[in-house]
This record gives sequence, C-alpha cells and structure tokens, in this order.
Amino acid sequence: MGKALIIGAGGVASVVVHKCCQNSEVFEEICIASRTLSKCDALKDKLQGGKTKITTAQVNADNTEEVIALIKKVKPNVVINVALPYQDLTIMDACLATKVDYVDTANYEPIDTAKFEYKWQWDYKKRFEEAGITALLGSGFDPGVTGVFSAYALKHYFDEIHTIDILDANAGDHGYPFATNFNPEINIREITANGSYFEDGQFIETEPLEIKRVYNFPVIGNKDMYLLHHEELESLALNITGIKRIRFFMTFSERYLTHLKVLENVGMTSIKPIDYEGHKIVPLQFLAAVLPDPASLGPRTKGKTNIGNIFTGIKDGKEKTYYIYNVCDHEECYKEVGSQAISYTTGVPAMIGAMMVMTGTWKRPGVNNIEEFDPDPFMEALNKFGLPWQESFCPELVE
Ligand code: NDP
Repeated sequence: MGKALIIGAGGVASVVVHKCCQNSEVFEEICIASRTLSKCDALKDKLQGGKTKITTAQVNADNTEEVIALIKKVKPNVVINVALPYQDLTIMDACLATKVDYVDTANYEPIDTAKFEYKWQWDYKKRFEEAGITALLGSGFDPGVTGVFSAYALKHYFDEIHTIDILDANAGDHGYPFATNFNPEINIREITANGSYFEDGQFIETEPLEIKRVYNFPVIGNKDMYLLHHEELESLALNITGIKRIRFFMTFSERYLTHLKVLENVGMTSIKPIDYEGHKIVPLQFLAAVLPDPASLGPRTKGKTNIGNIFTGIKDGKEKTYYIYNVCDHEECYKEVGSQAISYTTGVPAMIGAMMVMTGTWKRPGVNNIEEFDPDPFMEALNKFGLPWQESFCPELVE
C-alpha cells in the first residue's frame, strides 16, 4: 500500500514500529527518524527481515527545513509524529510544504509554557484544506481511543450524550519508587498544572489534583483517581453536540503523589531555566534525565491498565448509561513488542490512525480530531491489532 515516516524513537514510537511491521500489507515501507540516530537503528536491527522495509534517518524535528528535506527524500504517504508535543507545529509546517498527510498523539505545547490547547493546531485547518491534506490529531489512547469510543457511543447507543467521564486507570507496578510511564517532562507538566472540566458550556478550573474519586473497576479493583485537564475535553466539547459535562480522571498512587509533592516543593518540577555553574538548566528537564527512561520500564512492569468512558444520555426518550473500556496487560505487551502497556495503548492507535488515513478510509482535507471520523473501522481495527474493547456495567464509585 505505501510508506510512513515515523518521527521519534522513544517508548511510543517503538510500539508504532512493531505494529506497522505486523501490518505490512498497509505499511510496505517505514522510515524511523529521530534526534538520536542510534535509537532508530536499534529499532531497525530488532525488526528488519520481515515484509516491511525499514530505513532510518537523523532529524531535528524542531527545524522545519530539516523535516521538509527528509520528507522530500523519503516520499512518505503519511508522517506519524510520535516525537514530543513541542514538535507538532514544525512537523505540520513540513507536511504543508510537501503536501503529505499528518498524524499525531498529543497536542502542541510550547516548550517554555506548561499549557496545551488545540488552538495552535486548529489554526492550520484552512491551510490543510487548501493543500488537500489530512491532519488527524490525537490518535493515541487518551486522546485517541477515548474520542473514538465517544463517536461510537453517539452513533450506536445514544440520541444525545449528556455526560462523559473518561477514566484512565493504571494498576501496573514497575518496582521503582518513582518513574513516569511516558515522557517524564510531558507527564509531570500535565499533572502539576491546574485541573479543569467542562460543564454547561464552560471550562471550570480546579487546583492541581483537587478533586479525588475512588472507583471499583472491573478486573483491577479499587483505584484512587484525580481530575486532570486533558486535551480531548476541548475537542469533545465541540464535537459531541448537546454535551453538558466532560471530566477526565487518572490514577495516581499515594507513593507517586508524595514523591511528586517533594520534587515540586524543592523546585525540581519548574520549567524556568536556572544558572548552574555557568550553564542554563531547566530543573524539570534535568529531573527527566535522571528518572528511569519510560522505554526501560517494559521488562519490570506487572499488572494491567483499564481505560474507558462512562456515558450518560438519552436513547428513544429514555435515560441511559453506557460504559466501554479496554484492559491491557503490561506483561503481555512486553512479551509481544518489548514495551509496557502505556506505550502500547498509545502506539497501537497511532498505527491504526495512520492506516485509516493511508488507506483513504479516513480522508478529509483539513485538521481533524479523531471523533470527527466514522468510528466503526477504527473500532474493528482495535480488536484486530491488540486493544480489544469491552462493554459492561459501570465501575462503582466508592467515594
Ligand atoms: P519518549 O521521550 O520516550 O520519546 C520521544 C522521542 O522523540 C525520542 O526518541 C526523542 O529523541 C524524540 N525527539 C524529541 N525531540 C526531538 C526533536 N527535536 N527531533 C526529533 N526527535 C525528537 O516519549 P514517549 O514515546 O513516551 O511519547 C511520545 C509522544 O506520545 C509524546 O508526545 C507523548 O505526549 C505522547 N503520548 C500520548 C499518549 C496518548 O494516549 N495520546 C499517551 C502517552 C504519550 P531522543 O531519543 O533523542 O530523546
């Protein structure tokens, strides 16, 4: 079918590469390009020999001209951006210049401000339309599958959806006192920011981790969850017409939060550069460098994740509740692709999103969030490529 250029060679990219190779009918060729070439080459060495042809390249994706030159050389049908959110705009600029479709898993965030919102990427809508190319934003799990679940619920189960609670629960244990499951810098910026939720047409801000709930989940049991601001709230608030409230909750253990509080209190989570022995360093970037690499957690992590959505709304004039979720086992993921479940649950949907765009199943010039497309082929692909979903009674709210 065609060729994908994968930018990034970290935890998520590794899963994307594995999954593209498992889907060689669609991904006949891939090029893995990242800042550190040796990481791309290591992935190539591990996976070459199958039907998918693999090449590698070094690229600084902060530099649009470098990305343009690479796209011109590789001539991909789609660029899969699994580097960091800081590179979204430079890579989108390069896609515009070369008229190549674009897929990512996280919305743009300026490196010097801990603030993420879709505004910057939505501003590209007209230019992508005029260029006749498709951008698919947020094709991970959350954002990503949670948006597909929402479109699926609306298509098949509701006339109107009134509330969505997204519950992201990780019952995995990697044995370290403190580590993050994906890029530490991005993860800690997200958690230490103010929370927010959407209600009655507006966003309501909370203090960081101010709102706590305990849910009893299928398979993984009782979990402490905290309300966070999350990017899909912004797009779902627009795309699910009639929605009255959307909230996002994520699990954090007491141990994790205690470490985080100490790091915050001593200034290690700050993104303001400081002088250290004549060098400028950003405390959070230094912290990220000393924490375990999320890609190294795979062999140590045991347990499962459970991520899904609870919907309430109306069908045929009656009130209704619907719960849909995926359970993913860290050790099974490691056996299959050498990564823990957080990278896996992000990398599989990134590959599926790229497949949807490349095969023309999802093709709409412009900048699109995932819930704007027909969810059915994506839902089918989730079952086929390792993230089967289940429907059941809602998890019980314990406190
Ligand atoms: P990692 O830190 O493991 O990997 C990031 C990769 O990007 C590294 O290989 C890094 O290179 C590369 N990179 C960073 N800057 C540049 C640059 N300027 N040019 C080229 N390459 C660069 O992160 P993860 O794999 O954990 O996360 C990848 C993305 O997935 C992030 O955007 C994250 O927010 C997103 N994500 C989305 C989720 C979802 O459900 N939607 C869930 C989890 C993550 P180097 O090796 O040299 O550092």
